[in-house]
Amino acid sequence: MLKLTSLLYRVMCWLGFHDFRVIDRTFGFGAGGDVEKLQCKRCGIIIIRQT
Ligand SMILES: [Zn+2]
Repeated sequence: MLKLTSLLYRVMCWLGFHDFRVIDRTFGFGAGGDVEKLQCKRCGIIIIRQT
């Protein structure tokens, strides 16, 4: 079942359903808001999100 699960995870990532965790957080200046750096636990993709 492990193979099937990892395949499912990969498909989820392909579809854009990543399993993000916060790896870095920068406190924003002024009205910009905070910036979070998120990394997917499964495929390792990193995105920047403004909160
Ligand atoms: Zn992912």
